[in-house]
Amino acid sequence: MTPVFMAELSWPEFENKMEAGAPVFLPLGATEQHGPHLPLSVDIVLPTAVAEAVARQAGGIVAPAIPYGYKSQARSGGGQSFPGTTSLAAHTLSLVVRDVLYDLGSHGARRFVVVNGHCENAWPAIEGIDLAMRELRRDGIADAKTMRLEYWDFVQPETLAKIFPDGFPGIELEHASLLETSLMLLLRPDLVSPEKMPDDGPAEFPPYDLTPMPDGGVPESGVLAVAQGASAEIGGWLMDDHVTLIAQAVRREFGI
Ligand code: ZN
Ligand code: MN
Repeated sequence: MTPVFMAELSWPEFENKMEAGAPVFLPLGATEQHGPHLPLSVDIVLPTAVAEAVARQAGGIVAPAIPYGYKSQARSGGGQSFPGTTSLAAHTLSLVVRDVLYDLGSHGARRFVVVNGHCENAWPAIEGIDLAMRELRRDGIADAKTMRLEYWDFVQPETLAKIFPDGFPGIELEHASLLETSLMLLLRPDLVSPEKMPDDGPAEFPPYDLTPMPDGGVPESGVLAVAQGASAEIGGWLMDDHVTLIAQAVRREFGI
């Protein structure tokens, strides 16, 4: 099998792929607490796995994931106070995304798919993409195109209804909860400790942010909803939807 990870290609192989119009997938991760039962790498592992599977279907390659994300926010990731959560300032992340896309574009990449795995990265990534596309245009490269997405948006309503028969509580509270735990059980069961799943959720947040977050504002475990009920089978349903629907979108946007 030809390697799908950019880091495993030689430079002539990379050059050939770019000349052939291969889309380049850039996973955006985070090094962030995900409760006592999951590793700090969840937001890297999941978008990388989705990008890898879609790239194999679409003839693309996967650039090395950005392993640090924008600062964890209390209502979507528990916040910065958990040991091990290691983040970038928004402008740092924007410039990292800019620099990576710009260099890829300078070396022939024209189709980019930025696959986000950490909510908080969204706007800094949008800024980085905008800066990179501007710089490439100034260099006379006018045909570069970027798709940016959150992989979890690509799921059929029927799948969510099957997983949450009482109604889906919403993606933000899903941090380290049923969806991420199920995907990790599918992809990296060696990194999951199901016996350590806490039961101090779900979080009850007001519809606003407080800085600093008062004590007790976030469940002590760092899990924002509930992880109980997670399974590799559910992870498989999710992964199938994510990969199928993202691959369709990539094919549509890039005409491949
Ligand atoms: Zn996460
Ligand atoms: Mn996250």
